[in-house]
Amino acid sequence: MKILKNGVEAIQIGLEDFKSEDPRRAQSAVRNIFAGMLLLFKEKLRRLSPEDSDEVLIKQRIEPFLDVNDELSFKGKGDKTVDVYQIRERFKGFGIAVDWKAVEDINKLRNAIEHYYTEMAPSVINEIVSKSFGIIRDFCVKYLNEEPVALFGQQAWDIFLETDEVYEKEKKESEESFAKVDWRYDILTEAVKNMRCPKCQSELIQVTDVNKYEPNEDLLLSCRKCNFEFDLADVIEECVADELAGESYLAVTDGGNDPYTECPDCGKDTFVFSEECCIVCGYEQESKTCAVCGTGLDVDEAYEGEICSYHRSLSDMD
Ligand SMILES: [Zn+2]
Ligand SMILES: [Zn+2]
Ligand SMILES: [Zn+2]
Repeated sequence: MKILKNGVEAIQIGLEDFKSEDPRRAQSAVRNIFAGMLLLFKEKLRRLSPEDSDEVLIKQRIEPFLDVNDELSFKGKGDKTVDVYQIRERFKGFGIAVDWKAVEDINKLRNAIEHYYTEMAPSVINEIVSKSFGIIRDFCVKYLNEEPVALFGQQAWDIFLETDEVYEKEKKESEESFAKVDWRYDILTEAVKNMRCPKCQSELIQVTDVNKYEPNEDLLLSCRKCNFEFDLADVIEECVADELAGESYLAVTDGGNDPYTECPDCGKDTFVFSEECCIVCGYEQESKTCAVCGTGLDVDEAYEGEICSYHRSLSDMD
């Protein structure tokens, strides 16, 4: 029971840090809650480990050996325990479902707070607490068969509940302001959901007074947490990259086509092939083939004219 107890205590201490008036404790709140959540995951792996296996599933190194009956068996080796990535891999094998996207969000914010911007901690900490709450609640009930209120105590659990309620409300208001906008492109409708404030990293962004997106026109946004105002153009490349990261990864590993590229007209990385245009400047480019050899032209070649780069280089030599 030691892992579970440590996990619960870390989360309780984290919530106390979070409730403290001292903004410097925000960092320690995040660290404690995240560490506690990982301990709950490890508790599950400990419970799944066979007896006398030295808690094989929570160890980074697993060693095969032959037991007394000459049967193949596995034992944990060393003191190092699994990291987030390994937990994820092992859970996959056992069919344990966790909202890894949320875990990743929390982990990214945690790293950013620890290494770069201590001052941004207060504005994103509600998001971290709210997202951890959802993960921890589901995990305790589904996989640890523990009643969360009993496990964490009423006081700590109430902090979770209240924070989640406030955060969900703010998040909903932010989403509603986005839903009112006609984003013109399907890809943009999805991509803007990845948006974060360039200053404090909060995802609670509000659209100011615009109901239709037009390429080349300003679209003002403001952060509900730090009040920073910015233009969609400042963050659009990052939103598109986040949205299409999975497809880009497949393009690299499986040799497919990149889902987007640099626009030859405005230079931003926002020429999206599924839209056949650049969603920042509106430059359109249907697929073209070389007038000489008939091979398909890439966006840059098509921007230059009707001829592939090879045949262009030949004609330049004349
Ligand atoms: Zn902000
Ligand atoms: Zn463009
Ligand atoms: Zn050609």
